Amino acid sequence: MSAATGAVTDALRDLHARFAAVDEGELADYIPQLALADPDAFGLALISMDGHRYGTGDADAPFTLQSVSKPFVYALALDLLGLDEVSRWVNAEPSGEAFNAISLERRTGRPANAMVNAGAIVTTALIPDAPGAPRFGRILDCLGRFAGRPLDVDERVYASEVVTGDRNRALAYLIRSNGPLPMDPVAAVETYFRQCSVRVTALDLAAMAATLANGGVNPLTGDTVVPEPVAAQVLAVMATCGMYDASGDWLLRVGLPAKSGVSGGLIAAGPARFGLAAYSPRLNPAGTSVRGQLAIASLSRRLGLHLMHNPALAGSTVTLVTTADDLPLAPREERERARYGRVAVVAAQGALDFTAAERVLYALDEPDPQDTGAVVLDLLRVTDIDTVARAMLRSGLARLTADGRRTAVADPDGRLREAGGGAGAPRCFATREEAVAWCTAEPAG
Ligand code: GLN
Repeated sequence: MSAATGAVTDALRDLHARFAAVDEGELADYIPQLALADPDAFGLALISMDGHRYGTGDADAPFTLQSVSKPFVYALALDLLGLDEVSRWVNAEPSGEAFNAISLERRTGRPANAMVNAGAIVTTALIPDAPGAPRFGRILDCLGRFAGRPLDVDERVYASEVVTGDRNRALAYLIRSNGPLPMDPVAAVETYFRQCSVRVTALDLAAMAATLANGGVNPLTGDTVVPEPVAAQVLAVMATCGMYDASGDWLLRVGLPAKSGVSGGLIAAGPARFGLAAYSPRLNPAGTSVRGQLAIASLSRRLGLHLMHNPALAGSTVTLVTTADDLPLAPREERERARYGRVAVVAAQGALDFTAAERVLYALDEPDPQDTGAVVLDLLRVTDIDTVARAMLRSGLARLTADGRRTAVADPDGRLREAGGGAGAPRCFATREEAVAWCTAEPAG
């Protein structure tokens, strides 16, 4: 076993050992087939953004998705229809109520959010149904792409829920009586029951959560299941509504977008970090796995995963703030430099995002904000520039140019170069020396 496999698996095993003896909670029995589950089953799984899979206990044991299906069908609806259209039908406010409550807006009858049954039934009904692409076929295909393998339906659980699902049918009729249900209530609820009856394992759930955490790209298959903005929207609704009337307390204590289901599945996602899943069918009164909740809460505390913690500060972005006087330059360039006085040189490293770009721009002003001399930005050791950082750096450099300062970038791959070379676009050079030499040379023409 490798070092990483050992360390992560050990952490999961440790949690498993700590909570396996907890036997509080009851199996869901309002869907009779769910009451037949092994009450002692307990699996934990984690999948990293690199697609490394870690599991312990019953991480391979099958169970049905139940409400854990809701965020993924919501993702499909958002992808197909867009946030504005979906929001016309389903709101995104925490209901503060149980999963099966009549959580409908007073005047419009619109469900509170897509994580409670009322909102999930409407979300399912929003998925287009066409002869070549039937509604449930689309849903099953999408759930499988999130999991990274084809999934199937546990027909016994489905039949069991159809027989006992009057409350959900009642909800659907109530919603239609107010207006906002775009299809027949019985058909909507039956499709919803089928998505709840899709069979998965804890490892599948970890992959599904990891896909959301990874901006919609499944880290096991590389498949872009939904666009990045959709993944972020779903995680936002999971964070505020995923644990029903316990959502606020969960966000406060655990700090991860999560979703529970009455078969005992529970997922949590660490954006850009991991997907986590637990399976243990004994539930607390809110319908959440008792051991799953303990294990995920404990892991979050132990590994410092709370979303609102300061993210690990990136290593230093700006590695050098100096002037060309202090850099070893060729004698000829030394002489030419004399004409133009000081050239400020700032070097950056690593991946540049908003935070890093702000540091770089601040450093560009730092040697002498009153200075009118030239500025060289050295990006040779920068590994990546996101779109926000690129736009910030371009406009910051354009401003310096507009102030009459010569600006040059050591940027051999031309990452700051603009398509069509805008008027204020910075001059890009292969090396820092060439950039400084250009800044110190006689102006052309
Ligand atoms: N199929 C279940 C229901 O609608 C799902 C509920 C849940 O997992 N919380 O009652």
